[in-house]
Amino acid sequence: MSRIFKNNPDPGRLEEFFTSDKKCLEFLAEAKWKNGFLCRKCGNANYCAGKTPHSRRCTKCKTEESAAAGTIFHNCKFPIHKAFYIAYHVCKGKEDISTYEFARRLSLRQMTCWNFKTRIQQALQKMESLSEYEKSSIQKIFQ
Ligand SMILES: [Zn+2]
Repeated sequence: MSRIFKNNPDPGRLEEFFTSDKKCLEFLAEAKWKNGFLCRKCGNANYCAGKTPHSRRCTKCKTEESAAAGTIFHNCKFPIHKAFYIAYHVCKGKEDISTYEFARRLSLRQMTCWNFKTRIQQALQKMESLSEYEKSSIQKIFQ
């Protein structure tokens, strides 16, 4: 785990991630479409902006894809910047923060934190079964 996040991220940059959903989505969108957009449904490479921030909509079949789709942050039921905070601390692994502590710091329910923490831990354990995109998104986050 520590190998994945070996580089120490810039604290200012982290602060941005931990306070802004927009920054998180921007980051995910950049990582996801760094080689250009490709519609997952029809393979078209042209897109326009989607309804949600940093999502993209295929100009051909109109399928919209969010920046978080295909990542551990997909279908997250709470603000994504809080999910980033948990993901960072779980992956960085320097201090073991309990789900009660996450809940207190982020004003979330303990069960919510437990569910998400478990999801990340399982994802890390099953790195080889993840898609290339998921792997690279986990590896690149916060570096
Ligand atoms: Zn399409």
